[in-house]
Amino acid sequence: MPEVDWSRLKAHELRQRANDNAVVILPIASIEQHGPHLPVMTDTRLGHEIALRAARKASAERPVVVTPVVWSGLSEHHMPFGGTLTLSHDTFRRVIRDLIDALIRHGFRDILIANSHGGNIIAMQQILDELSPTSAATLVATTYVMEAGEDLSQHLEDQPGVMHAGEAETSMMLVCEPDLVDIRNIGTIASPDDAGKFLAAGRGSYRWRPFAHVTENGLAGNPTRSNAEKGEKMLEAGADAIARLILDPDTWADPLDRRLPETGGVPFRD
Ligand SMILES: [Zn+2]
Repeated sequence: MPEVDWSRLKAHELRQRANDNAVVILPIASIEQHGPHLPVMTDTRLGHEIALRAARKASAERPVVVTPVVWSGLSEHHMPFGGTLTLSHDTFRRVIRDLIDALIRHGFRDILIANSHGGNIIAMQQILDELSPTSAATLVATTYVMEAGEDLSQHLEDQPGVMHAGEAETSMMLVCEPDLVDIRNIGTIASPDDAGKFLAAGRGSYRWRPFAHVTENGLAGNPTRSNAEKGEKMLEAGADAIARLILDPDTWADPLDRRLPETGGVPFRD
């Protein structure tokens, strides 16, 4: 199996990946508090694991390479619990933009921003809105929790989907970093049931709040029945979903241009 980890490859091997039109996965994540039982690297570790597994799966059909994780994300809402490192939106946008620029200068043309932290989602989409109309590369953004959806949540017994430091993330960390998961009080640290609603107002409106609004210990969800067997199934489901996304020709195809010949206007991409 070809190496997919950018940081383990040599420069000439990466030049070859660009010549071979490899897809680049740029994982973005966070270093932030994950309750009393998980390390602050959780989103970074899980995002990297899923990206590497997805790349290995997809590389049977198309070369894929995974850059190191951009661990510095947008985590202001977790600051009250400590352990959290966060960027301003402006810095975050510049970091992502510059890394995309570097990839494009090396000749990569299909770039997948693979996110594993909820707080990055809106900004990530905004960055793509800003860059895509004039970018030399096709830019796609994914969050494995959303891309895999039901394929992940079907394994959960005590919460509806992947939440924060709950059943899903704890199970996956029991696979990736079992020595760093403190399971001593795992049955007594679940959050109240309305933990998912902290960024909402009214029936369909948005309000920012700190995470402390919904949880006393930094955790949202119920990790009581977390286990490594469940975690392995979820890591595979996440990786399968990202590999499918990479190999779907529609993901990278040029947009249709259905304008009539006399319409004129601005070309989508030069
Ligand atoms: Zn997390």
